[in-house]
Amino acid sequence: MKRLCFRCGAEVPAAEEKCPVCGKKYRDNFITRTRELTDSYDPADIGGGRFLCVLSYLGALVLIPLLSIKSTDYVKFHAKQGLILTIATTVYVVIMNVVSYLIRAAYGNYVFVFLGLGLYAGLFYLVFLSVLGVIYAVRGRAKLLPGMSLFFRADTEE
Ligand SMILES: [Zn+2]
Repeated sequence: MKRLCFRCGAEVPAAEEKCPVCGKKYRDNFITRTRELTDSYDPADIGGGRFLCVLSYLGALVLIPLLSIKSTDYVKFHAKQGLILTIATTVYVVIMNVVSYLIRAAYGNYVFVFLGLGLYAGLFYLVFLSVLGVIYAVRGRAKLLPGMSLFFRADTEE
């Protein structure tokens, strides 16, 4: 698999520690390891689609890029990721509320404080993924968010 710079998306040769284009140190982790599909989209579509792409990660606003006739394949990439993330976050919040209610009913508020922090950690992670999505959208990159390769199998096979 290609080693790609997290900041600018340029390829980092195997022997290099830093990106030859922007100088950012190469890091290999669950965020940087995801596949980058930017090369498979038209640069003109990327340049013109930034605003719609950012909307993809702002909750229900994902419906705008999803339904807009102006959406190019590149915009649809972000809209699809944003939609999956929005659904995942909504489902998570519903489950979180039910679990919170049950914990409070069964064990009282004292126990809930500790378990509740765990539940909020999961929510913060989902919000973090949305922020990451906005960053990629602003930078004009089609990079998969962690966990998304499952939904982009056809696009990500080499
Ligand atoms: Zn770079």
